[in-house]
Amino acid sequence: MRTINVSPHVKKVEAWFLVKVSAWIVKGTEGVYLVDTGLPFMAKRLLREIEKWGELKAVLLTHGHFDHVGGLKKILAAHTVPVYAHVSEMKYLEGSEPYPGMKKATHAVPSHLAETLPVLPDGMFKEIGGLTPFYTPGHTPGHVAYYHEADNVLIGGDLFMSRGGQLRKPFGSATVDLKQAVTSGRVVETLKPRLVSICHGRDVYEPHKQIDAYVARYQRS
Ligand SMILES: [Zn+2]
Ligand SMILES: [Zn+2]
Repeated sequence: MRTINVSPHVKKVEAWFLVKVSAWIVKGTEGVYLVDTGLPFMAKRLLREIEKWGELKAVLLTHGHFDHVGGLKKILAAHTVPVYAHVSEMKYLEGSEPYPGMKKATHAVPSHLAETLPVLPDGMFKEIGGLTPFYTPGHTPGHVAYYHEADNVLIGGDLFMSRGGQLRKPFGSATVDLKQAVTSGRVVETLKPRLVSICHGRDVYEPHKQIDAYVARYQRS
């Protein structure tokens, strides 16, 4: 396991379990925020890294797959904080329905534990700890990426994979709607982040410069 400094306010804890699995720690003005929680065995390291930056204020989830919520139980045993996810992810996250195309529900998070991401009157998501949520459905129906404006970094979750500095489509078998997921990748065109941070791979710099090629490559399939 290792900790990577992504940008002044963002670090990534990366572990190996068949593939790379990452979770992010973000230094906000009021405290610390955790984006995803990795697998259960990553919780101890995450708690240590959180402590270095201050007090945990909230956990933000990109989506409900087990490799993103696995550490949640241990994190919440140490800190009583709100957990946020997109409204469209809730029923899958809580296991009341299986993800589309899957036979079994996962029941990753107890019912009513996670709250829906707060929305402003203009329909935009409220910023939390310097992070603005962007709805990026496809990998799962309620997948969200988090944009850190001050650092110009997009925490992508499973929006993309990467290989050799190039964007790659998210995991095929776990992705609910690939076409929608690929289109959601266009969020980098609007934001033009310095880099997109990726859960299961290396981060990709200036992703907007290759997004047309990415979309063209995967929309044909
Ligand atoms: Zn996933
Ligand atoms: Zn994942």
